[in-house]
Amino acid sequence: ARTRRPLIAGNWKMNGLRADGLALAKGVADGVKQAGWSDRDVLVCPPATLVLAVAEAVKGSGVLVGGENCHAKANGAHTGEIAAEMLHDCGATYVIVGHSERRADCGETDAIVRAKAEAAWRAGLVPIVCIGETLAEREAGKTLSVLETQLKGSVPAGSTAANLVVAYEPVWAIGTGKTPTTPEVAAAHAHIRKVLGGLTGEAAQFRLLYGGSVKGSNAAELLAAGDVDGALVGGASLKADEFLAIAKAA
Ligand code: PEP
Repeated sequence: ARTRRPLIAGNWKMNGLRADGLALAKGVADGVKQAGWSDRDVLVCPPATLVLAVAEAVKGSGVLVGGENCHAKANGAHTGEIAAEMLHDCGATYVIVGHSERRADCGETDAIVRAKAEAAWRAGLVPIVCIGETLAEREAGKTLSVLETQLKGSVPAGSTAANLVVAYEPVWAIGTGKTPTTPEVAAAHAHIRKVLGGLTGEAAQFRLLYGGSVKGSNAAELLAAGDVDGALVGGASLKADEFLAIAKAA
C-alpha cells in the first residue's frame, strides 16, 4: 500500500476558453465523483482566467483547483501579474511554480521560484515546485546534480510534506512523447527525496510527482516507479477521459 497519498495534477497551460474549459472541468468532476476515490487527490490547474469559474464548476466533487503560476508579491505595481492571494480568493488551493516553460520563457531563476513558493504559503496555497534537467544536461551525466542545485535554490526553508510538493519534469520529456525509463525516473526521485531529506529533515512523506508526456497508456508504469507519488500532466489533462484514466492508474 502507498504511504503517501497520490496527487494527479493537470496543467492546462495556455489552453481553454470558457466553454471548453468548463466542459473539461465538469467532465473531470463528474468522473471523480463517479469513481468515488477517497485515496487520491485530483487537481486541475487552468489558466488564471478560468480559475474562478472552474472552482465553482467542480465544487462538491472533490476535485482541487490550482494556478499555473503566481507573482512573489501580494499586490502592487506589477501590470499583468497575478498574486497567490488572488488565486486563493478564486478558490485555488495549489499553485504550480517554476515550470520549465516559465524558467525558459520568463527567465525564472531558482531564487524567483523560491520566492513564489513562499508567496504561495503566505496566501494559503500549496506550491508545486517544478524541477528538471534539459536533454544536454542529461546527456552530459549531470541530471542528479542539476536536480540537487534546483532543489537547494527553489525549495524554501520551512518546507514540509504538508505544505509543498515537488514535480520532477525532465525538460526533454515535456510535450515530446518521450519519457525516461522507469529506473531513470526512480533514480531521479530517490535522489530528490534524499536531497529534500537533507534540506528539511522529513523527506519520507513528501509527495514527488513525475511529469513529462504522461498519458493513459503509460501512467501505470510511470506511477509505479519508486518514489513516484503522482503525476503532473500537460497535454493529456486536456481530455477528461484521458486525465481520468491517469488518475485511475494512481
Ligand atoms: C507539463 O508541462 O507539466 C507536462 C508534463 O506536459 P506534457 O504532459 O504535455 O508533457
